[in-house]
Amino acid sequence: MSVSSAPVTALPTIPVMRPWLGEEEAAAAAEAVASGWVAQGPRVAAFEEAFARRVGATEAVAVSNCTTALHLALHLLGVGPGDEVVVPSFSFIATANVVRHVGAEPVFADVDLVTGNLTPATVAEVLTPRTRAVIVVHQAGVPADTVALGALLEPRGIAVVEDAACAIGSTLHGRPVGEGAQLAAFSFHPRKLVTTGEGGMLVTPSAEVAARARRLREHGMSVSAAERHASGSVTPEQYLEPGFNFRMTDVQAAIGLVQLTRLDAMVARRRERADRYRELLAGLPGARLVEDPPWGTTNYQSCWLLLPEDAPVGRDALLGRLSAAGISARRGIMAAHLEPAYADRPRVSLPATERLTADSLVLPVFHQMTDADQDRVVDALLAALR
Ligand SMILES: *Cc1c(COP(=O)(O)O)cnc(C)c1O
Repeated sequence: MSVSSAPVTALPTIPVMRPWLGEEEAAAAAEAVASGWVAQGPRVAAFEEAFARRVGATEAVAVSNCTTALHLALHLLGVGPGDEVVVPSFSFIATANVVRHVGAEPVFADVDLVTGNLTPATVAEVLTPRTRAVIVVHQAGVPADTVALGALLEPRGIAVVEDAACAIGSTLHGRPVGEGAQLAAFSFHPRKLVTTGEGGMLVTPSAEVAARARRLREHGMSVSAAERHASGSVTPEQYLEPGFNFRMTDVQAAIGLVQLTRLDAMVARRRERADRYRELLAGLPGARLVEDPPWGTTNYQSCWLLLPEDAPVGRDALLGRLSAAGISARRGIMAAHLEPAYADRPRVSLPATERLTADSLVLPVFHQMTDADQDRVVDALLAALR
């Protein structure tokens, strides 16, 4: 027997996030395997259709993850060497990386201190004649005001790509995020709400853009493997342009189809947990929990808390205290411009981004989270910060 240093009464660790997967997903995956069709096939097509319906998009194209969906979006727009693409630094680093993967230059804009998102004012500051596109992130599920941003960018012929990795089930001006978007990319990583293990979706209102995206995700093939199989005839394919392998598998899509049926419940539960945090943390002076912006609702993909500048303990020390109490919180959203991968770029000053990334933390929220779990998190926070 090994000797554990943990106290006998140690409570189970509260994770920051846990996907909500059940028997139904396991059965759907097993069915896909038993069917013999495990690569991109009929279940991917069905998932695309169900997803498009759910977010109010005309077309949805399933891909391997959200990073490849964003890469594909920039490729579809013809963004390349010599072009600048405005992105928030305050995002998962993939948002900036995809710009470099198409040979263009990411230009960092600051974000709003309340929403964590780009605004017309922060974007206007960094536009140049070389700006071809802006990747607008709905950070942590909080919808960015793409209507206001569109009013700035459309007259200038600058494309908007929405990084909706975190934002399935969030709403914008009363409509689901994704509806009305020219190009929006979603993620099905387990850190988001709906998961397929790995996976992504690109939505667009254009049948033409969607057809080209479907071709590009599959090596630029004129006829997909699924179509060839269905036609039963010998149709030799052509390779119309250099494409990628960005495909999703039917096993993933089978899981995704079940996950979509849980989405409304997932969002409702997370919003209810966030409201409860807000009540319980009301006595914490100066701290601010992320909330709905005036133009929409968040799915609380991440429930982040901004600490006051004069907090009695710093963010990292606080994470340490929480960890000691068996609570797995996370530092807030990263800032790409501070990472070694961007150290060779001209250093820019992004005050709101730097404050948010230094002083915020992501609190545990997951579908199965109980009141008792949440009380433990709140007690530990209050003990450290009061
Ligand atoms: C998670 C995330 C991504 C990357 O999604 P993957 O599906 O893991 O490629 C991109 N942007 C943002 C804002 C994210 O949160």
